[in-house]
Amino acid sequence: MASIRISDLSKIYPGPRPVRALDQVDLDVAEGEFIALLGPSGCGKSTLLNILAGFEPLTEGSVLFDGERIGKAGPDRGVVFQEAALFPWLTVFENVTFGPRVQGVSKNVYDAAAREILALVGLADFAGSYPSQLSGGMRQRVGIARVLVMKPRALLMDEPFGALDAQTRLTMQELLLEVWQRLKVTVVFVTHDIDEAILLADRVCVMSARPARIARQIPIALERPRSIENLLSPEFSAYKADIMHEMRTAHGQGLVAAE
Ligand code: ADP
Ligand code: MG
Repeated sequence: MASIRISDLSKIYPGPRPVRALDQVDLDVAEGEFIALLGPSGCGKSTLLNILAGFEPLTEGSVLFDGERIGKAGPDRGVVFQEAALFPWLTVFENVTFGPRVQGVSKNVYDAAAREILALVGLADFAGSYPSQLSGGMRQRVGIARVLVMKPRALLMDEPFGALDAQTRLTMQELLLEVWQRLKVTVVFVTHDIDEAILLADRVCVMSARPARIARQIPIALERPRSIENLLSPEFSAYKADIMHEMRTAHGQGLVAAE
């Protein structure tokens, strides 16, 4: 059974001038799969992710999560945005354990889980630091650790590395590959960066111009485990050429969605 099954999903933002953001989107995501949703700004990526997260109601169609209709946001779906909204007055450790503490998880359980996750994201030595003492990449690692500690069944990521400099971004992509390789959690990853989509995903879903549909799905057969070295391979370039062509077809020469 697909862990996420999106059928005939449409979204219209109501208002004096209603905006049709999604048009009959169909997409199945298998358990443990890593999916990239790729498309330029404004095409409807965040809308789709926010519906999966339970932040936005859908207009038509259905979304099943492990066979059940998705309800409101919950810890089973961990969401990571471009900026991790951390509590500045709490340490890294306190930020990461905030969720389990609120949920009433016992201290010895969440303590051990948090230590393990912090080690996994390379922050073991920064448990006592405050967000203001961290770089942007490190804050994003805390953001990822904070959702992973809740043991989500799916990780929903909306351009999570979009605000980072190029070098940090590569480091974070490798970190995410390692984390996913270890935990095998289902990931839906939104990006407008073709390289990032190919490097990370099992399948790249190219979205059409708004109202978005899935224009094409491209399985990425690059061997795993992957690293940024994969960016240099001829197979990678072949995928890139194919996807660039698809993006041009779907969005025009400028790669900008029509407003
Ligand atoms: P992306 O994440 O691909 O940049 P979005 O999903 O944010 O795209 O937006 C898709 C379209 O829906 C855009 O035209 C945007 O202006 C519109 N939109 C997004 N959120 C709202 C909202 N809350 N109300 C009305 N229109 C919205
Ligand atoms: Mg967006």
